[in-house]
Amino acid sequence: MKRRDFLKCATLVAGANAAAALAIVPQNQAAAEPGKGKPLGKIALEEHFLLPDFVEYFAETYPNINPEIAKMGLGVLPDLGDRRIAIMDQNRIDYSVLSIAGPGVQVEKDAAVALRRSKSANDFLAKEIQKRPTRYGGFAHLAMQNPVAAADELERAMHDLNFQGAMINGQTNGEYLDQDKYSVFWERAAELDAPIYLHPANPVDHPAVYAGHTELWGPVCSWAFETAAHALRLVFAGVFERYPTARLVLGHMGETLPLNLWRFDSRWMVCNRGSRTLPQMPSFYIKRNIAITTSGVCTDAPLRCALDAMGEDNVMFSVDYPFEKTELAARFIEQANISESERIKVAYQNAKHILRLNRSIG
Ligand code: MN
Repeated sequence: MKRRDFLKCATLVAGANAAAALAIVPQNQAAAEPGKGKPLGKIALEEHFLLPDFVEYFAETYPNINPEIAKMGLGVLPDLGDRRIAIMDQNRIDYSVLSIAGPGVQVEKDAAVALRRSKSANDFLAKEIQKRPTRYGGFAHLAMQNPVAAADELERAMHDLNFQGAMINGQTNGEYLDQDKYSVFWERAAELDAPIYLHPANPVDHPAVYAGHTELWGPVCSWAFETAAHALRLVFAGVFERYPTARLVLGHMGETLPLNLWRFDSRWMVCNRGSRTLPQMPSFYIKRNIAITTSGVCTDAPLRCALDAMGEDNVMFSVDYPFEKTELAARFIEQANISESERIKVAYQNAKHILRLNRSIG
């Protein structure tokens, strides 16, 4: 489908009753045994919406997703009203931190346009949050084309709009966040105690390994590896050594990092480091400065791995609405084979602490 057709499609599906149809669940994972867990309050952090100005940016994500799912996403994403709240209520999600469905202005070539649109998106979200302040929070959308302006907008979002942090969708026009020019941004994020959620998006290049395999380009494979490598660039560049209170958040059960934590330390000792040095082992920074969410991963083994590898204070529940099925994510965490104290931490307590939410949940 060409972009023009996609945009036409986007206007046609608005308002479609599509939420229930969005999630594609493998048959053998669809049915969980009921009764093991009880409903419990939850905070969710990777919950998306979309503004008309951002539909064209979202078209960049279109080739990664089944066209039917992308179409239905466009019908559901604009709603911040009763339908979204009803799905939250049905699944005991007390509070959702909302963010633009990517890549947003991360792919905008004109830095001034990117800044203007990011600010107007944040203003829009702030107004929506004001309508339901007990149910919605926000991650700021930031134009990283200009690191100082992005830092200023983050500060405005935290102080004036009462947001909980920011979400950045991968590269910004080919640039990663470990570049020196972003020091000013990390310094400010650390000062503000603002968690920065690094969300997957496509890089500007298309590595040869994905050639001829559209199914690997996106959520099955490339997004996790791209996002994991981006996070590791920050770790090995020493961003968290320089800014010890900076906090990164990764979705999708940590984008493979928890599984490889021991190996990062082990191979750091033998790899060609060039001129890079770190006073601490890589895992020290990953455990201290990175928290993860369960978004889009609803099975016990990786959750157990994440809790053990990252620490039980660093794992938070999320759905990835509307691209994942809220009910499946909610039942998963309610019934997961973890201790009750771990369950409460993952469901809401860690998010309350990391996002500094002063509210009654649970
Ligand atoms: Mn997402």
